[in-house]
Amino acid sequence: MARKFLVRTFGCQMNEHDSERLAGLLAADGMEATEELEQADVVVLNTCCIRENADNKLYGHLGHLKALQDRRPGLQIAVGGCLAQKDKELIQARAGHVDAVFGTHNLDQVVQLLHRARHEGPVMEILDHAPLDEGAFTSALPVRRNLAHAAWVTIQVGCDNNCAFCIVPAVRGVEASRPFGQVLAEVEALAEAGTAEVTLLGQNVNSYGRDLTTALRASVLAGTAAWVASAHTGGSPAATAHVVRLPADAAYRVGRPWTAEVQEARPRARALFADLLRAVGSVPGISRVRFTSPHPKDLRPDVMAAMAETPAVCEHLHLPLQAGSDRTLAAMRRGYTAQRYLDKLAAARAVIADLAVTTDIIVGFPGESEADFQATLEVVAAAEYDGAYTFVFSPRPGTRAAEMGDQFVADDVVKERFARLEVVVNRSALAKHRARVGLIEEIMIEGPSKRDPSRLTGRTRQHKLVHFPRPDPDDPAGAALAPGALARVRITEAAPHHLVGELVELLHVPRPSSRRTRIPVIAG
Ligand code: SF4
Repeated sequence: MARKFLVRTFGCQMNEHDSERLAGLLAADGMEATEELEQADVVVLNTCCIRENADNKLYGHLGHLKALQDRRPGLQIAVGGCLAQKDKELIQARAGHVDAVFGTHNLDQVVQLLHRARHEGPVMEILDHAPLDEGAFTSALPVRRNLAHAAWVTIQVGCDNNCAFCIVPAVRGVEASRPFGQVLAEVEALAEAGTAEVTLLGQNVNSYGRDLTTALRASVLAGTAAWVASAHTGGSPAATAHVVRLPADAAYRVGRPWTAEVQEARPRARALFADLLRAVGSVPGISRVRFTSPHPKDLRPDVMAAMAETPAVCEHLHLPLQAGSDRTLAAMRRGYTAQRYLDKLAAARAVIADLAVTTDIIVGFPGESEADFQATLEVVAAAEYDGAYTFVFSPRPGTRAAEMGDQFVADDVVKERFARLEVVVNRSALAKHRARVGLIEEIMIEGPSKRDPSRLTGRTRQHKLVHFPRPDPDDPAGAALAPGALARVRITEAAPHHLVGELVELLHVPRPSSRRTRIPVIAG
């Protein structure tokens, strides 16, 4: 009988996607997925150190698993991801029953490490840098996805920025872009298997390709362009079609020739995210393209134009503000001022019709004064967001901000500011949502509403949740409204975090996919 595995996820979308890859690797090794902890022979905890109390949560889970392992000595436990990358041997020092520890750069080795641990006892392998091969990109590994109709696709790992509150550069390393053709080959394979929506994942998607360009140009000069060409088409004839044919004498970037005129006009390598958006958006069968996250300082007109001119790219921009005070932004090392941010937002709205904008905001960054916070409220009001993820600052060990203890803002002050910010965000979100009442929106069905199973839930192209009464399952339209189906709904009510509507018509029913099996990738 096949051994069974369960993957638990503690983090962001990048982590969840990594977990899909871990599940794919374990399945490729002949194991079966289970959602029952009691049935699992292998439990993999995919950790994150961005969220608050990540280590307490991890060690709490490990304590629980120890009791299970005492009852079932064959149970293997593996810990990977950001927290493992940061804590390294500390994990097995605090939890000696963990069989395998791996980091963010070598999750492709999970199977080998588990095999080794069965013979050698506890093992740990953490790489300081991503290897320069396909294994650096989790999307290049086997995968078992949660959903058939929507998929994440990694386009970049690591981050070259230096935000004072963020641990990502320390645990994920420098930016490395996944070859253009590999991304396209994966998107094409997904489309062929029935996926209609892809979300391109990276820590700073707007800088996608800057490193790739440099590498490509260097490889051309070094005479290894043939290798580069094959690597960048991912071996897929279909993907090759998306790579522009290059003049023999041109030094080049992926996507477009690097002609003498371009070189003269742009002596520095430019990012290729706009090219990638256009190429992914042109893959037949892909009707929705999303991405996360762009950095405001790197959002440029070419990306806005690609969003505006590529019908599949959704009218939604998640543009993290973090703070509205220039003093706080400088202390955070964000690389933009509030005015520069608002100017970019205005430019994006000017070219992308009906654009929804969401953001992230941190309250109580060390040294934040009342005047700084007021500036944040003013920028949030001026930005007229459709929604915002608001966070209370909490120090992440290993970051610059964690060392600013003498400037931490008192808890009661932060709490009060947080409540005021929520009022401004919700007011603007509600105004945006009320403006949609009476409109007919295209939604992609996600399934029954979590709170009220008599309603179905879907998402608009602007990424807004819409709930609507579930048609009678005996009605053919009701039966066809499966996850991934496209429908039109008339918006009848608005709330700050969702819309309510009524079904107008069913537009499209997803075709059966071989990837419907749900793999137990459980958010922690
Ligand atoms: S851009 Fe800043 S917040 Fe985002 S991953 Fe990089 S360092 Fe972290």
